[in-house]
Amino acid sequence: MSAPLIEVENLRKRYGGIDGAPVVDILRGVSLRIAAGEFVAIVGASGSGKSTLMNVLGCLDRPSEGRYRFAGRDVATLTADELAWLRREAFGFVFQGYHLVPTDSALENVEMPAIYAGTGEAERHARARQLLGRLGLAQRVSHRPNQLSGGQQQRVSIARALMNGGRVVLADEPTGALDSASGAEVMQLLSDLADAGHTVILITHDATLAACARRVIEIRDGTIVRDTADPSAPAANADAAPFHWPARPARSGPRRWPFDRAAARAAWRVMGLNRFRTALTLLGIVIGVASVIVMFAIGLGAKDRVMTQIGAFGSNLLYMAAIGESSRMPGRSLTLADLDAIAALPDIAHVLPNITGNRVVRAGSHDMQTYVRGTGPALPSVQNWQLAQGSFFDAEDERQVATVAVLGSKVARELLPDTADPVGRTLLIGRTPFLVIGVMSAKGALTGEKDDDNVVLVPFSTASVRVFGQREPTYAVIAVRDVARVAITETAVAALIEKRHRMRDFQIFNSAASLAAQAKTQDAMTVMLSLIAVVSLVVGGIGVMNVMLMTVRERTREIGIRIATGARHGDIVRQFLTEAMLVSITGGVLGVLIGLAIGLGLLAAGVPAVFSLRAILAAFGCSLATGLVFGYMPARQAARLDPVVALHGA
Ligand code: ADP
Ligand code: MG
Repeated sequence: MSAPLIEVENLRKRYGGIDGAPVVDILRGVSLRIAAGEFVAIVGASGSGKSTLMNVLGCLDRPSEGRYRFAGRDVATLTADELAWLRREAFGFVFQGYHLVPTDSALENVEMPAIYAGTGEAERHARARQLLGRLGLAQRVSHRPNQLSGGQQQRVSIARALMNGGRVVLADEPTGALDSASGAEVMQLLSDLADAGHTVILITHDATLAACARRVIEIRDGTIVRDTADPSAPAANADAAPFHWPARPARSGPRRWPFDRAAARAAWRVMGLNRFRTALTLLGIVIGVASVIVMFAIGLGAKDRVMTQIGAFGSNLLYMAAIGESSRMPGRSLTLADLDAIAALPDIAHVLPNITGNRVVRAGSHDMQTYVRGTGPALPSVQNWQLAQGSFFDAEDERQVATVAVLGSKVARELLPDTADPVGRTLLIGRTPFLVIGVMSAKGALTGEKDDDNVVLVPFSTASVRVFGQREPTYAVIAVRDVARVAITETAVAALIEKRHRMRDFQIFNSAASLAAQAKTQDAMTVMLSLIAVVSLVVGGIGVMNVMLMTVRERTREIGIRIATGARHGDIVRQFLTEAMLVSITGGVLGVLIGLAIGLGLLAAGVPAVFSLRAILAAFGCSLATGLVFGYMPARQAARLDPVVALHGA
């Protein structure tokens, strides 16, 4: 003879004994065997320990002592996930209070065990509809529990018990809350199930109901006082299929992480049911995400403006000049060879040699004291200084020592006041005539230095030979490729020349320094504003956690139901985490949209704002992480609930 499906030996269950609570023995050595396909009633007075026994038989609770074998295997050796598998695949519970999830439809309630078993959606729907149809609820599939009568709700819970097969149906006072007609209907259903080969264990205090079963076990004060089992009759129902343990029971079922559609749909519904609370929770995340985006946009906009100014002032430039004293000493001034050596350094875009001095220039009857500067043809691009008229001298002019000049706007205005187009006119520097080929745009307007426009620009070679009679440059303008590397390059250039001269007989400086400092201040501001924004995200996250903790507390019974229908620890964690993440994702999306809207508004109002994709993604990512981090604790708390305590609505 094969092992009975259920076999308990000397089962004991006691409560208390912790924190000075008195020890109460509820089950005092219960031993019984139930074969597959039996229809057993466990009867006894209220408080005799029937429900306690059923919870142990259904693996919702562990005995304090004694052994429970299910289909030959000791249940105490099973892992938590294996127990979940057993609850889902072998048992179906029917409770006095129905224990349906109030926010789910009849169909969804019936489907629940199949979701945890990983059954596909189409198959799940079909089977749930078929079961509901068989129990006369075809017209009620989309009704919520509160839209159904007690008898209908109990039939929904029976359908749920049968969803994954319902090999063992455990019914605890299933008719206790029903009128007599509905009660009789439910009893008939249970009896039919027993005929069809299901093992049915009916728990009742009512001896007349118990009489419907084929075997009656009476329990009093935690011990069996009567068992009508007929030892001569074959206990097992011939229709009952034998139960086989799979090799790894816990491995079946889905492990989709962190999202699954059923959980997301349920979460969405819960959010909709508590709209006001959801809105308040969202607000924290929305404000956090939106402020991160706006703060970054403003910070970047301000920095961008500083950088534009840096561009206008040519702040990627280094100025290097020989110190007056040493320049008189032969070999100690800045030489063209020095400049070539500088040009060979990394990060150098261009090196402009300059030779300068004050001279009187004349044109017709006018003359004026001005600043003559011999320089390279690259000056307009290096100093970001555009021509207003004509053209600048080129490399050819430089090579041919051409006597051509480009005028600063002040010189053009004062020296040739009679014409609007000085190009083609001649002026004298000393006694040498120069052909005017261009006029620079007014630079003083940008820099605020009016004297910047009091200049005559000539090729370096011409200035050297025809004006100053000196080969060596007075100073060099060095353009650095990358504004960010100006300071490093400055050090490198200084080191190079100091090595070449064997002394520090020059000075070097850059106008970028002050602007760079300004940019740095701006960066610090951005970081600080962002920190404030991140703090508000964290506050939002705490809001999420608070609401999730409340949700878990409000829904302990639902959690108990889910565990009883076979949800694993991970399934419960996943569900509540999904809810937390859905809140924060919704908040994140709204926050991004609102942040962009505010930024666009600022742009329209003339505040410089630069949107950074990275900041937007980071803010959104933070909101996601917030949901995960702050949702995890409540989710874990939910999953750790004791199913017996949860079910009975502690
Ligand atoms: P029945 O279902 O036969 O009416 P129960 O099995 O529900 O009885 O309960 C049996 C006894 O165990 C009751 O006296 C009840 O007060 C007690 N009991 C049940 N659960 C707990 C618990 N968690 N802690 C302490 N006592 C409990
Ligand atoms: Mg009870």
